[in-house]
Amino acid sequence: MQCKPSYSLYALLGMLAAPVVVMLAWSFQTQAWRSVLTLTLSATVSLILIAGLTRTWRRFVLFHFPLFALGVIYTALTLQMGVVPGRAMALLLSSSAPEDMIGAVRVSGTTWPAVAIILMLGSYLYLASRLPTRRIFSRPVVLATRAALALCLLAVIVVAGDAAEVIDGLAINPYTGPLIFLSADVPRARAELRGALVAKIPYRAHRTGIGEEVHVLVVGESARRDSWSAYGYARPTTPYMNSLKGEAIFLQDAIADANLTEWSFPMMLTGLAPQEFDVTHLRGNLLDLAREAGYSTAWLANQDIRMATMIGIAPDRLEYRADLRGNINGRHLWDQVMLPAYQRELTRTGTARFIGIHIMGSHWEYYLRYPAGFQRFGTASHLNVLSIFAANGDANRELVDSYDNSILYTDWFLQQIIESLRVIKIPATVTYFPDHGEDLEPFDGEAGHGQPRYTPHAFELPAFVWANDAYRAAHPEIYAALKRNASKEIRTHNVFYTVAQVMGITWPGDSMEKSFASERFVPDATRQHIAGGVLITRPSDAKPASQTSSVAAR
Ligand SMILES: [Zn+2]
Repeated sequence: MQCKPSYSLYALLGMLAAPVVVMLAWSFQTQAWRSVLTLTLSATVSLILIAGLTRTWRRFVLFHFPLFALGVIYTALTLQMGVVPGRAMALLLSSSAPEDMIGAVRVSGTTWPAVAIILMLGSYLYLASRLPTRRIFSRPVVLATRAALALCLLAVIVVAGDAAEVIDGLAINPYTGPLIFLSADVPRARAELRGALVAKIPYRAHRTGIGEEVHVLVVGESARRDSWSAYGYARPTTPYMNSLKGEAIFLQDAIADANLTEWSFPMMLTGLAPQEFDVTHLRGNLLDLAREAGYSTAWLANQDIRMATMIGIAPDRLEYRADLRGNINGRHLWDQVMLPAYQRELTRTGTARFIGIHIMGSHWEYYLRYPAGFQRFGTASHLNVLSIFAANGDANRELVDSYDNSILYTDWFLQQIIESLRVIKIPATVTYFPDHGEDLEPFDGEAGHGQPRYTPHAFELPAFVWANDAYRAAHPEIYAALKRNASKEIRTHNVFYTVAQVMGITWPGDSMEKSFASERFVPDATRQHIAGGVLITRPSDAKPASQTSSVAAR
């Protein structure tokens, strides 16, 4: 049946073209020219192929509907994140519940774009369903198609020079990109979340004790020891920690193995020391050890989940909330988003449990790490994402203020963790150990962490072990050893052996010399660290940070 040109058809074709046009405009600024050309080319060829298959406009637009829906969402996500959905988005989707994703859309301020997308998809379907059956390939269309194919052939020769840019081009095509994402990135992410990035060798671990116990490991972030009032800072940044003195065992000389998360976190969870650390040496992690020994395991992360999957963390239960606002400095959700999951874990009675918690802590942008109620010091009104590089005057002071507020918030967070556990009457412990410290420009003349050299405040850590009365009564020898070793140099990789021992786990590769919960603990004397990704030897004259810069407070 031949009809007059239909405005519905023009509207539908306009809608179909819109994601391609938007991605083209976006890619001109961000992508290589071959990728942009590949996007144009692949979009044209796929349109012609689908037209050849469907033959009528009505079938053509109806066939396109699922692709269109995926393409619109894919384009919106690309614009929101500034990058096409890839491994990070696949991990997020594979680990988050649908209602959590809906919540993340609401919180990220993208509710209206989401509503607009739903309306657009609805009108597309409505118009498509009412379209009369009309053949696509009239004579002018056939001629135009042949011309387009001839041009495409020429373009293929031009783009073929760089395979990587061609793949990038297919990824920025809103109609082929989602297919690549769903068929490659998502299955890979699912495997990654099952621990597939590490070839695991069983530890052959056993538990010496019996009965129900709960052990919590909180991995901190960018925690500067001299900014904690529990370690002598004049500002009251850790009122709760101060109140735990005499109850929790505060480590006096905890020193990070590395000054970057991606190095120190794996060492803490696998026990590999800086000089032996290599991803090919990974065989499993603390959670594998715990599970082999009969523990139920949970991992709660408010951090880039790739830190966990990189070392094969595959817990029985994962809590990883969707965050569509995060940036290169980290997630924008506050650490408290993990507390409901933590409470759920505590009510999971009947089995010995290990709960790992990876917090965002005090990572730069400090002022984004806590709710308004924790803005106790300063106003943070002069700060932006670049302030850490070029702060002066008011911004310099607010850098310290907002850092201190983030510590105050972590102090409150740790209070929630410990006080919820205190009411439980079974043996329970909390170990808090940060990945590394932080330099603050006004005090240290350096900013942040990850310098390729030893800067004391980026390595010296606040850390503690808390045990409830039931644990102390059940394991007095472990508690006594922890106390005795608290003033010795304790390194990141010692945490693996120590938490294992605190949980009563033994295995053939066990080493009491590396556990500061043991009488036989021997501090690591190698002075080897990884600074900015490079193995270094700590200068023998490296003075404790408290002597190299004044612990100021205003
Ligand atoms: Zn870190």
